[in-house]
Amino acid sequence: MQNPFQNAMSQLDKVANIKNFGEEFIARLRHPDRDIRISIPVKMDNGQLKIFEGYRVEYNNVLGPYKGGIRYHQDTEINEVKALAFWMALKCAVAGIPMGGGKGGITVNPRELSKGELERLSRGWIQKLSDILGPMKDVPAPDVNTTPEIMDWMADEFEKITGDKTRAVITGKPLGKGGSEGRGTATAQGGFFVFESLKKDINLPEKCKVAVQGFGNAGSYAALIWKKAGHNVVTVSDSKGGIYNPDGLDIEKLMEYKKTTGSLSGFPESKEITNEEVLQTECDLLIPAAFENQITAENADKIKAKAILELANGPITPEADEILFKKGVSVIPDILANSGGVTVSYFEWDQNLKNEHWSEKEVFDKLQPILDDSAKKILVKSKESNTDLRRGAFILALERIQEKM
Ligand code: GLU
Repeated sequence: MQNPFQNAMSQLDKVANIKNFGEEFIARLRHPDRDIRISIPVKMDNGQLKIFEGYRVEYNNVLGPYKGGIRYHQDTEINEVKALAFWMALKCAVAGIPMGGGKGGITVNPRELSKGELERLSRGWIQKLSDILGPMKDVPAPDVNTTPEIMDWMADEFEKITGDKTRAVITGKPLGKGGSEGRGTATAQGGFFVFESLKKDINLPEKCKVAVQGFGNAGSYAALIWKKAGHNVVTVSDSKGGIYNPDGLDIEKLMEYKKTTGSLSGFPESKEITNEEVLQTECDLLIPAAFENQITAENADKIKAKAILELANGPITPEADEILFKKGVSVIPDILANSGGVTVSYFEWDQNLKNEHWSEKEVFDKLQPILDDSAKKILVKSKESNTDLRRGAFILALERIQEKM
């Protein structure tokens, strides 16, 4: 697999080549403030002790406390977490929220753990890091394979250790336990607001044929939201493969189906296809909502979508970006497209500190203009520099960070 941090740095270089931010500034952005590795001992259900490897990268806090999720995955390693933390710093700047960039993770396949083991592991992550975390210091959140329940254990552990009762140290908590309305669907909903804001400018039709890769929190809600808005979602996939129906999939039924069977395969009135075929589907809009490095120099030329909206972080490599740009495929970059998640996380933090609870309508009424404004500004930046939206987004983010610095 390509090193995601190297990819992130080559994105940065590409921007530094077209706009002069000054060498010192770019040099600072090439290094995280801190990257921390921890060992987490967990007593397993069989009585044996197992040591897990965990991480927290605090990339940059120029704009505010470090902010970013925690990923549980068997392939998670420090370079991935560093790249994700870097992207968080830019993402918060794009969203215009007073937060910096951070990211955490544990190398683990959570599906292999019992609930008790998972809880002990999650509390262990906090125990090792409690001195660097805090509402004004570093505020984690969910990411791949981490849930509101896990955030609740973590907030509870932090409170036990420090006595801080605000629960603002972690976002993405369950409703009723300090969580915000709308946080669960915020990433997908935010992506939809960005799409609405840009669709005319990138020449997408009123009703789009949509392909979604990934059926986790971001992908499943994206499929549902696009479908409900009258678009035709023809294919979706999960880690095991995809399903396809040219007439459109019934996403509500599919979510039920996946919940009961644990899989997409065998869903009535659909044909099974591979994950690669999902990416290469003939469609207007492709939404990668799974992992990094999905569209690479190898398959970029085979992409048939008119536009790609990155709900995942880093799904397109820098080489693939060039190929897509030449082909005329518009890419709405992750740091804009999925910034609805962290923006509602910021709302959650704000509500916790003010002891308020906003309705879902209030949350989305606040979210929509923020994303619309960022999307429009990024479009202008990309046109000014005659470049793609990713570089436009980097320029907006870097200008905001530099100004504050
Ligand atoms: N993990 C999400 C992301 O990559 C959300 C981060 C947050 O809410 O802090 O943007």
